[in-house]
Amino acid sequence: MLEPALYVVATPIGNLEDMTPRAVETLRSVALIAAEDTRHTARLLGHFNIDTRLISVHEHNERQRIDTIVHQLASGASVALVSDAGTPLISDPGYVVVKEILQAGYRVVPVPGCVAFVAALSAAGLPTDRFVFEGFLSSKSGARQQQLKSLAQESRTLVFYESPHRILASLQDMAMVFGADRTVAIARELTKTYETIKSAPLSELIVWMQADSNQQRGEFVVLVQGAPKASGDEVNPQALSILDILCTELPVSQAAALAAKITGIKKKQLYQLALERQSANE
Ligand code: SAM
Repeated sequence: MLEPALYVVATPIGNLEDMTPRAVETLRSVALIAAEDTRHTARLLGHFNIDTRLISVHEHNERQRIDTIVHQLASGASVALVSDAGTPLISDPGYVVVKEILQAGYRVVPVPGCVAFVAALSAAGLPTDRFVFEGFLSSKSGARQQQLKSLAQESRTLVFYESPHRILASLQDMAMVFGADRTVAIARELTKTYETIKSAPLSELIVWMQADSNQQRGEFVVLVQGAPKASGDEVNPQALSILDILCTELPVSQAAALAAKITGIKKKQLYQLALERQSANE
């Protein structure tokens, strides 16, 4: 018997062998499964001989479905939440449901498993100690370039999801904004037959992908090496100490602006440096 709760269950991102025994057992034991696409999940349930009742829950009906789920939980039954692939809520529906169920005073239990970007990070060879998950970039080139510009100085590994229709255009925008030398890894069709993980400078990666249209097919995670850190070595110790003192009294942007006026060093460089010195001291 499961404790009455909403179980957020991760499902495979390609290879069905990645379904965990606990996920199977949970989906079998709950009274109801709320799924992003019931036809898609019905196939998964068929594979594992699970005959639990399915209802749809997606972006457009999340709020109405909450009443149904609360009703089940109130009667002592359990409900599972699944998406088409991977972990629900990760670039998938479910956030509103989870938030409301918690607010209604019920337990939400994660049943962890696949997440495409974690699988990609684990095998691409880019730094994983700190990273930023950005989900999908805009489908419009102008907005996409703006998003990328706002991330150009980010020193942590950048993580994006991308569709086959836009992979090449996105890599080209990245080359324009981050520079053609920046190292990027693409993780394509993870856990599936045509799984490909390739890491190279953007200029090389784009040529490689253009040369073989098969490499533009399927599902992608794109990992971008972070911008090189602003080095304190290029800034003289006196300027650094001015920056440090100002940072103890002022917000970082004001401290950087004032330090720039005093030292003649670029505000942007000092701002980046101040952020890094602060996070190093945390
Ligand atoms: N909830 C999922 C997760 O936990 O990763 C993500 C769902 S999101 C709607 C789908 C996107 O995830 C795809 O467009 C692709 O960017 C990425 N993705 C999902 N499965 C993948 C796979 N097998 N290989 C590479 N990327 C994948």
